[in-house]
Amino acid sequence: MSEIQKIVTRFAPSPTGLLHAGNYRTALFSYLFARHVKGTFLLRIEDTDKARSKKEYEDNIMESLAWLGLPHDGFARQSDRIDIHKKRLEQLIASGHAYISKEIPKEPGDREEVIRFRNPNKKVKFHDMIRGFIEFDTTELGDFIIARSMEEPVFHLVVVVDDIDMGVTHIVRGEDHISNTPRQILIYEALGAPLPEYAHLPTVLAPDKTKLSKRKGALPITAYRDRGYLPEAMVNYLALIGWNPALNDREFFTMAELIEHFDLKDVQKSSAIFNEEKLAWFNRQYMAKLTDEEFLAQAKPFLAAGASLGTSAISSDLLVKLLPLIRERIHAFGEIPKLFSPEGELSFMISSIPSYAKEALMWRQEKDITATKAHLDFVINAITALDASAFTLETIKAAVWPYAEKVGKGNVLWPMRYSLSGKEKSPDPFIIASLIGKDETLHRLTIARNLIS
Ligand code: GLU
Repeated sequence: MSEIQKIVTRFAPSPTGLLHAGNYRTALFSYLFARHVKGTFLLRIEDTDKARSKKEYEDNIMESLAWLGLPHDGFARQSDRIDIHKKRLEQLIASGHAYISKEIPKEPGDREEVIRFRNPNKKVKFHDMIRGFIEFDTTELGDFIIARSMEEPVFHLVVVVDDIDMGVTHIVRGEDHISNTPRQILIYEALGAPLPEYAHLPTVLAPDKTKLSKRKGALPITAYRDRGYLPEAMVNYLALIGWNPALNDREFFTMAELIEHFDLKDVQKSSAIFNEEKLAWFNRQYMAKLTDEEFLAQAKPFLAAGASLGTSAISSDLLVKLLPLIRERIHAFGEIPKLFSPEGELSFMISSIPSYAKEALMWRQEKDITATKAHLDFVINAITALDASAFTLETIKAAVWPYAEKVGKGNVLWPMRYSLSGKEKSPDPFIIASLIGKDETLHRLTIARNLIS
């Protein structure tokens, strides 16, 4: 081994479900640490639990890491390494550190023989880069099982064998593994291997402080990809879950900047929160940095989804036209189709106006609906007088605004806007009118006015 030891970390997920943000935060920290020290980052799929491990979950892990931009320098799958595990198991039996134990089956299907580790029953002390020294008395662990048979070593043994064999120097993983560490250290010692450094990361919790787990509510990371989140925003947000760099509350980091600044010593001990609202906020900030071209390119894959929401397909032309309005209203690209759905704020562009009661046209401070009718008449006349070839936000506003200022802005603009959008919430009436054009504007205003009769 060279004098300056090369640092090797790994991410070792079990493909027994779809991994959530908390799992990928672990992957990210392990990756950032490795890159920061110019070390090696390995990926190991821990699929020893044959009943629960599934190829589709492994595929999802690969896709998620690729999406986040966390490439690995080496890859292993535990089920491909069974010969190595077996050799080490034989070594432990030969050296007397493990033995074949006769068992009394308690339930049908229980083994009559397993392989147990001969526990030296001693105090084990290890250093954790985040928590300092941790000491355990292993006596209470008894002679724990390390294999169900020579072909079926269990988790503790394979983790240690693989970490030794793959040269892992730093184990960065969730703090739920602290209680496994003493057993694993005993195995390291029995195999005569040097101990790795440990860094047990604080658990990632939901905002209500309950556990984020694969089985309880937490979304797989690919669900955010599929909702149109940007991986850069996700990485930035994940990095701040439990990591507090002493950089004056700085919040924005590119991957390169994270690699530059990341240090395990700045990881907090207390649990950290994954907050979807904060993630959405980050995503919006990252979306705002995109040029129009970049924004459109990211949006395109999501447009077809409009069809399933009852909207006709949203054309790229429409998107370009409405870009500022869309940018103002979304936190992720996947929200675009909904904006154009019948309930959405931008539906006025592609669906017909839903029918409404005439009272809806009245501004809340208006006392008399005949006044609303008079205002609509004014607007219709003012717009009729405009030249269709110069029908812009500015010309429309200039034609209506002075009157609205005189008689009350809400009294005029509310019925105008409601007529054009059929909604309580929508862009302002001048924008809508300029977008739908003079004829359609007059058509909708006339329908509204005639409702009042
Ligand atoms: N395969 C374990 C898990 O998914 C991780 C083991 C480890 O990091 O040591 O929780």
